[in-house]
Amino acid sequence: MELTSILKARVISRRDFIKMMTAAAAALGLAEILPKGWAEAADKLDVIWLHGQECTGCTESIIAGIAGSRFDQPDPGEVILNFVEIKYHETIMAASGDVAEKALEDAIAEGNYILVMEGSVPAADPRFLYVAGKPLEDTLVAAAKNATAIIAIGACATYGGINKPCPSNGQGVGYFLKKYGIDKPLVNLPGCPLKPEWFFGTVVYYLAYGKPPALDQYKRPKMYFNKTVHDECPRRMYYHHGLFLLDWNDPKQANYCLLLKGCKGPVTYANCPTLLWNDGVNWCIGSNAPCAGCTEPEFYGGFSPLYQNTVGYHTHPK
Ligand code: SF4
Ligand code: SF4
Repeated sequence: MELTSILKARVISRRDFIKMMTAAAAALGLAEILPKGWAEAADKLDVIWLHGQECTGCTESIIAGIAGSRFDQPDPGEVILNFVEIKYHETIMAASGDVAEKALEDAIAEGNYILVMEGSVPAADPRFLYVAGKPLEDTLVAAAKNATAIIAIGACATYGGINKPCPSNGQGVGYFLKKYGIDKPLVNLPGCPLKPEWFFGTVVYYLAYGKPPALDQYKRPKMYFNKTVHDECPRRMYYHHGLFLLDWNDPKQANYCLLLKGCKGPVTYANCPTLLWNDGVNWCIGSNAPCAGCTEPEFYGGFSPLYQNTVGYHTHPK
């Protein structure tokens, strides 16, 4: 696959590669929690990647996370994906038609892979989404049965997201698969889109331990989702002083708290204020946009209208 061949074009010794893996894990903030020598022992991870009801923004986010390095060296995502063999991915795979579908069937039959699911499942009626002439539901169930674990990426695949309050009744993959009695180890990496570092970090953890990291009640890795956006927001001082932005055009209010403009930060768990976006360039609140709560199960319908205060005044909401 394209993604996994990036480093093959470079001439890098195994020793240097291990060093790069270790540095990549450190850049993702994982150095402290990984066992010694994990990079030497890490084995390849096979992945089947399915798309449900979605916009492919999460794939875009991950690709941007690989290609977006501002330095003349491979970034963490680029290094880590060398350990990932993507067997099927409709957006990036070179094969198409019967050849692609055969590759998927073979990979499912072989087993021993992680299923990455991007997009929700149309729970109202399987006819809402056909891929390669069959309902996505059939392919998903077959792939989930043989998977060793499932990683759901983005708001849609985790909790239904933007297409939950739609006629197709988009559901998150974990919730949907209960109907079939399938209960595989599941990691939810929500966000609209998810941050690439959450995906790379989860993959590294899996490579090192062969199991998902510790999860919260919504199956999100605690290492990324243990604090609210509000907990670490640089505008919190304004919140405590009751200084809320009311007029976008008033320069005096430029850095005021965005609660009254609909910020869901007080009820949204994610490390956005410290991780930021695009290699640390900026983030939602930094660019004066209220947090939309895209990592919570309530997103989008339960948080609508996004630009109205639907959370009240909270300091410790949960
Ligand atoms: S309400 Fe939003 S903008 Fe205000 S401090 Fe909390 S997270 Fe920051
Ligand atoms: S700050 Fe809020 S809206 Fe922005 S990515 Fe984080 S959780 Fe989503």
